[in-house]
Amino acid sequence: MEETVEIAKSPSTEDLIEDWMDYFELKGLIGEINDIASIPTRNSLYISYMDLFSLKESIARALREHPRLVLRAGELAIRKILGPEEAGRRINIRFTDLPSEFIVNIRDLRSVHLDTLVMVEGLVRKATDVKPRLRKGVFICQRCGHEIEIEMDYQYREPLECPEEEGGCGRKASSTKFELDMKKSTFVDVQKIEIQESPESLTGGDQPKRLSLYFYDDIAGKVFPGDQVKIWGILRARQKRDAYGKLPLFDIYLEVNNYDKREKSYLELEITEEDEIEIRKYAKRMDIYQLLINSLSPSIYGMEAEKLSLILQLFGGVEKNLPDGTRVRGDIHVLLVGDPGTAKSQLLRYIADLAPRGIYTSGKSSSAAGLTAAVVKDEFGEGNFTLEAGALVLADGGIACIDEIDKMSEVDRSVMHTAMEQQVVALSKAGIQATLRARCSILAAANPKFGRFGEREIVDQINIPPVLLSRFDIIFAIRDLPNPDLDRRKAVHILNHHQWGEKKRKIEMTTKGRGKVEDLEEIEEKEFIPPELLRKYVSYARQNIFPVLTEEAKDKIIDYFLTLRSRSHEEGGMKIIPITTRQLEAIIRLAEASARIRLSEEVTVEDADRAIKVFNRYLDSITEGGGIDAIYTGRSLARRERLQVILKIISELDSITGEGASIEAITDRAKEEGLTRDEVGDVIKQLLTSGYIYEPRHNVFKTL
Ligand code: ADP
Ligand code: MG
Repeated sequence: MEETVEIAKSPSTEDLIEDWMDYFELKGLIGEINDIASIPTRNSLYISYMDLFSLKESIARALREHPRLVLRAGELAIRKILGPEEAGRRINIRFTDLPSEFIVNIRDLRSVHLDTLVMVEGLVRKATDVKPRLRKGVFICQRCGHEIEIEMDYQYREPLECPEEEGGCGRKASSTKFELDMKKSTFVDVQKIEIQESPESLTGGDQPKRLSLYFYDDIAGKVFPGDQVKIWGILRARQKRDAYGKLPLFDIYLEVNNYDKREKSYLELEITEEDEIEIRKYAKRMDIYQLLINSLSPSIYGMEAEKLSLILQLFGGVEKNLPDGTRVRGDIHVLLVGDPGTAKSQLLRYIADLAPRGIYTSGKSSSAAGLTAAVVKDEFGEGNFTLEAGALVLADGGIACIDEIDKMSEVDRSVMHTAMEQQVVALSKAGIQATLRARCSILAAANPKFGRFGEREIVDQINIPPVLLSRFDIIFAIRDLPNPDLDRRKAVHILNHHQWGEKKRKIEMTTKGRGKVEDLEEIEEKEFIPPELLRKYVSYARQNIFPVLTEEAKDKIIDYFLTLRSRSHEEGGMKIIPITTRQLEAIIRLAEASARIRLSEEVTVEDADRAIKVFNRYLDSITEGGGIDAIYTGRSLARRERLQVILKIISELDSITGEGASIEAITDRAKEEGLTRDEVGDVIKQLLTSGYIYEPRHNVFKTL
């Protein structure tokens, strides 16, 4: 059946003016309107839509389809009240509390919406400088003094002649000059903004759509990149041009009537009472931590320590102000440094999808704003400078997942550390000064300095400046070393998931949607929390739970910290990640997150223990099993020497026989240096993966 569109008859301007007058009188607004005249900077009258709807439904009803008419009539009504003395003044009627039925998704804006009132929601990505724009030019003919008015749209136009029929001298532009009279001309402040759809409104890797908007007059300069906004106004179109002239194609933009900033956070998810009951049930379970690990990206095999850290990151620590007013972040920053193909990118994408307000980006992203923010001069600004928000600002209130962070630009590199600690991005360039909020957790991934981990100390292979590195609460080194047992289990796991996907695809494709996908048996024998509920769980905990450290937990953490510190004073201390109060704060945050998972108001000893365990796993991972001891007692230095020793033995043995060195011969020689058989095996494995030696025959090795 054909869809019928009811075209509302245009109301007449006269009727609307009368209705507006009625409304102003009914509401007793005449006085306020007269006040406008007494305050030179005040040009706007704010009208509650809901109120208008209840008192003068006719105007409210006409607004959606005929906004220009309604606004024009309102303006004329106000001008009637103000009288001719205020003729030169700008008058704006701005609506407040517009109902959500006006909302249109940016991606759904079509030609039917042109010249109607729509409301869009999104994240401010760019904002230009506020600059005066000429609305009405008053030109003076330099020969006869006649005034000529020209309304400007997007082109600047000058008179072609001094029109005789209007009392001018009739000269063409070639024989006189026209000068713009700034005083008599009308200017309006204008700011161009670009918003993009909020990440939470997107599903499955959709690219956010963008829309340009113009803010005129007193509302220009009020929103900033990173702001979450609801904006309403009239959808307009501007004709495109190419080198040959106008094209029958149009770009759309919104002429803003008014806006509403939203305080953004994890609040946007709607959590029903049933959800809450279910969340509370989960939170009480003894095995909740394991259950959460199982629920996080089940298709990725193993990596349980990493997954637990990401869970803690999702729930987050408590943001707080100290007695002296210092603000301490609650956000937990995590870095994964690992060999290629170890599912880092996949984990990041998963978290960006799962986390409310999660953003996935790459350190080498081509956007000028990069990870932080930038001031640029480009086409968008139409000659003005534009302040553009980068990933951290756009992820304000959520998680910024930054892949290949080691590839970030020099500019980002220089401001990232303040962004990570103070959680703001401060910019000052080309007259634009701004401090943008960037209160997000960072989940970053990087490859080792030389592509994959070699034989040197892990910490020496992380290509990230120490100042930045020390801002991460948790760092994991992920090595891809051959391990027959683990490899088999991982491969089986991956193949099972692929096989399940194939079966599902087969059902969907061969039964034309009538398929019984439900009949497919679950491959996960492990129980897990569905992603939708997990997201609500995180959201719920972050909104409602603010745990406080117990005395016992405090003591536990203090003890642990003192142990770390005492060891770091010994010889061979690790230089890149010194243990400072930063690490102490990291442990506190992890413990708070652990308590939040149980929806506990207290951070208990168990939470402290869990935080310490996670922290130890991190130290373990970057010292390759050596743990804190390896870092602080200098054993890790010996490890490097061990590699040198074995390498030397192999090349010596090889130079004698020319046939390579057998494992037995190597072990014998290494014994003299105090190395056990196991240690030799370990070192050889490492030398093999890092390509220093190869295995021409079974258990025989040669140097490269
Ligand atoms: P990275 O970013 O670390 O280089 P990717 O995330 O691109 O690696 O992973 C490469 C591929 O290997 C992905 O398809 C990923 O699913 C798979 N993969 C790697 N490790 C695992 C694992 N532990 N379990 C399941 N799949 C894995
Ligand atoms: Mg990757």
